[in-house]
Amino acid sequence: MTPYRIPYGRQNIDQSDIDAVMQVLTSPWLTQGPTIERFEKALADHCEAEHAVAVCNATAALHIACIAAGLGAGDRLWTTPNTFVASANCGRYCGAEVDFVDIDPQTLNLDARLLAEKLEVARRTGKLPKVVVAVAFSGQSCDMRMMAQLAEQYDFTLIEDASHAVGASYLGRPVGCGQYAAMTIFSFHPVKIITTAEGGMVLTNRAELAERLRRLRSHGITGDPAQMDVPDHGLWYYQQLELGFNYRMTDLHAALGLSQMARLDAFVARRRQLAARYDRLLAGLAVTLPSVQPGAESAWHLYVVRLQLEHITLSQREVFDALRDAGLGVNLHYIPVHLQPYYQALGFKEGDFPEAERYFSQALSLPLYPDLTDDQQDEVVEILRRILG
Ligand SMILES: *Cc1c(COP(=O)(O)O)cnc(C)c1O
Repeated sequence: MTPYRIPYGRQNIDQSDIDAVMQVLTSPWLTQGPTIERFEKALADHCEAEHAVAVCNATAALHIACIAAGLGAGDRLWTTPNTFVASANCGRYCGAEVDFVDIDPQTLNLDARLLAEKLEVARRTGKLPKVVVAVAFSGQSCDMRMMAQLAEQYDFTLIEDASHAVGASYLGRPVGCGQYAAMTIFSFHPVKIITTAEGGMVLTNRAELAERLRRLRSHGITGDPAQMDVPDHGLWYYQQLELGFNYRMTDLHAALGLSQMARLDAFVARRRQLAARYDRLLAGLAVTLPSVQPGAESAWHLYVVRLQLEHITLSQREVFDALRDAGLGVNLHYIPVHLQPYYQALGFKEGDFPEAERYFSQALSLPLYPDLTDDQQDEVVEILRRILG
């Protein structure tokens, strides 16, 4: 794979990251060691959360969060179609039925009003969801306050997929603080805000959920005598209490994440600066700029514009091809999940979620990452200006 001259996202790795990983590499613990807990504590503190459970990626985090929420065969999970497939697949791993709620065309997030309407219908038909996964698309929180009220009213577990939103805040508090969602998921994939190469985390304020998540990430095994049926075994003893997984993060990955935490605020600050710069530079082009709702401070994982195709002679495909030919790794977030062949085979079809589909037919993610220079950003805008004509 040849990288694009200017990709849409890229990690920032410096000498302190390299030193941190090297230090763990020659320590007694490559995995199941103390660096995991240090990384968990650092992120929990940053987010004002009580508990944090690190896992091997955010997909695994979503999976065990659903199990901890009690999701099983015959239950229902609802999420947004405008997300990465993992936000929906976690329901399928549990044997649950997955359904979607269309997006708000302004925020591009799951529309809380449509959610309220769908819940009311579901109550009448006896088909309420057990879990709703609210995705903070591009780094901007959903209307979490309203969703938390709905969770209370209709008795579902609200899980926030904040894979894009490490370092974001909502109504004056950090995303992950647990004021609205029962559990918040972060991803540390290299294109996200901070990276561990592969990695994820679940944050929660509920001790019983944290304990369950820890057990699920490590085979369903406990070493805690208090949880065993016969407590007075030796120190070497453990018991498997349920079917779990090996979803652990290694200490090498945690060392990288912990080291990156030192630059989290700087990463988000630079992303915000670049987003504001795009807003200025793109004014006058045939694109609709992203809009952030009052109260939500985005982490700006993505800068997504909508092409005003009625003012452009090229098609969306032609604009993409021209940008990529110019060395820009532009991308599209997201192909609506319900249109993936796997979900179409489950009965979903084109037309089911028209706002997400309309958005998809116009969307374009421009390069955005902390190391993107002002000059590079100027170049991106000039190339786009030329292509849009
Ligand atoms: C990246 C991403 C995931 C999956 O994260 P991994 O760490 O790669 O498993 C899940 N949901 C959303 C919204 C994402 O962007």
